[in-house]
Amino acid sequence: MRADPGMSASRPGFNQDVRHFDLVIIGSGSGNSIADERFAGWDIAIVEKGVFGGTCLNVGCIPTKMFVHTADLAAAPAAGARLGVDATLDGVRWTDVRDRIFGRIDPISAGGRRWRAEENPNTTVFEGTARFVGPRTLDTGTGEVITADRFVLAAGSRPVLPDVADLASVGYHTSDTIMRLDALPKRLTILGSGFVAAEFAHVFSSFGVEVTVVGRSNLLLRNEDHDVAARFTEIAGQRWDVRLGRKAVRAERVDGEVRLHLEGPTGDEVVASDELLVAVGRTPNSDLLDLATAGIDVHPDGRVVVDEYQRTSAAGVWALGDISSEHQLKHVANHEARVVQHNLLHPGDLVAADHRFVPSAVFSSPQIASVGLTEERAKALDVRYVAAKQDYAAIAYGWAMEDDTGFAKVLADPATGQLLGAHVIGPQASSVIQPVIQAMSFGLDARSMARGQYWIHPAMPEVIENALLNLDLD
Ligand SMILES: Cc1cc2nc3c(=O)[nH]c(=O)nc-3n(C[C@H](O)[C@H](O)[C@H](O)COP(=O)(O)OP(=O)(O)OC[C@H]3O[C@@H](n4cnc5c(N)ncnc54)[C@H](O)[C@@H]3O)c2cc1C
Repeated sequence: MRADPGMSASRPGFNQDVRHFDLVIIGSGSGNSIADERFAGWDIAIVEKGVFGGTCLNVGCIPTKMFVHTADLAAAPAAGARLGVDATLDGVRWTDVRDRIFGRIDPISAGGRRWRAEENPNTTVFEGTARFVGPRTLDTGTGEVITADRFVLAAGSRPVLPDVADLASVGYHTSDTIMRLDALPKRLTILGSGFVAAEFAHVFSSFGVEVTVVGRSNLLLRNEDHDVAARFTEIAGQRWDVRLGRKAVRAERVDGEVRLHLEGPTGDEVVASDELLVAVGRTPNSDLLDLATAGIDVHPDGRVVVDEYQRTSAAGVWALGDISSEHQLKHVANHEARVVQHNLLHPGDLVAADHRFVPSAVFSSPQIASVGLTEERAKALDVRYVAAKQDYAAIAYGWAMEDDTGFAKVLADPATGQLLGAHVIGPQASSVIQPVIQAMSFGLDARSMARGQYWIHPAMPEVIENALLNLDLD
């Protein structure tokens, strides 16, 4: 490693002006965490085309959950009535909500950029859209071409835009822009039926916006365990105008309102609203990088091909996070960043990424969390399993909340009791599921997990304890 950070260097076959780095990281999201003090002797470039800090910090996990918590508070008075608490929501000061959230986030992003660009002596930040122009040779999009011994592709993903005629003409939003609206709309149409759609539907409806959700499939959150998705779809239909089995074919803005033309099971329909949020999925940013030029393979769906060590098909090039992952989750990107970090530092002692038990959560209302196999997946894979459910309504904290829709479902191998999956819909599902993730990760069987520890009474994880005890093991 050279000890002269920031110095230009020549490399055989390249012009003297081409700076050569030990490591180039494309993307300042999860990739930005790689270059810690152990890389102090490395000459590193970070290339970022947008706001520093990536999706999670700026337009993903963090702001959405700050909005979700606020939405939960806004929805609480309505939920109190059945418990005998008469409270009313006087209003939601949208610009105060928005500015509190981004008033915290924007300085973190700016501070991260400043630290890397101005205070990190061995790091050079290039602010442009990178693309390869040859093996390990990168046009930084700033007018400067650079080379490096090693590259990390951490360029993430972006919202998919569906093929809806005239969509561009209506001034639609994606998750990148909807949280910065100037004012709350009276009506919002959300095109999409996945977790981003479900979270924003909860946020905006809790703030008093009339929400219509339009989806192509017949279920919301259809990748969840079927019972969970069916329960969520049923609850959503009571809160929002949910139109499923619909294909959006055309959009237009007339007299200030967005009209979305749909084809559905009962014919053509039009949904009118003040704003349109498009949330139909995300696609990896690999297409921006001219990867073929650098000999880097991609899957048909655009994900960069990586092996278990996060190596791509090109020597010295690694990838992590949404650009290569089927999961598109921040905790997965963080895990893979730690794997790449270790492997860069210890090329003779590579560690593999662990994707065995990847959990996920949907922070809507109710919350949903999931890990491992669904029943549908277990059947498709011909895995022998037993499943058991426990309603929140039948545990003490569920009584306290008068919850009558939530449940936990666990799947286990009937012979060994080994846990295969867990699916929770209900209050604090994202926290309630964590003991199951721990048990699966450390090989704890269902019986030992249920009876080998105390479960605090009467806390919500009792829903997991009882689901485990309900398993009909051999
Ligand atoms: C609305 C929303 C809510 C979410 N909520 C959650 C959640 O609750 N929990 C969870 O686990 N995950 C959540 N996610 C997903 C999570 O945000 C992503 O999985 C994670 O941020 C991906 O990290 P990354 O490092 O792979 O990519 P990113 O953080 O997206 O970083 C990639 C960076 O690369 C830059 N870039 C792209 N192409 C180029 C180029 N050619 N040149 C230079 N720079 C480039 C981009 O500008 C970006 O800054 C959410 C996502 C969204 C959209």
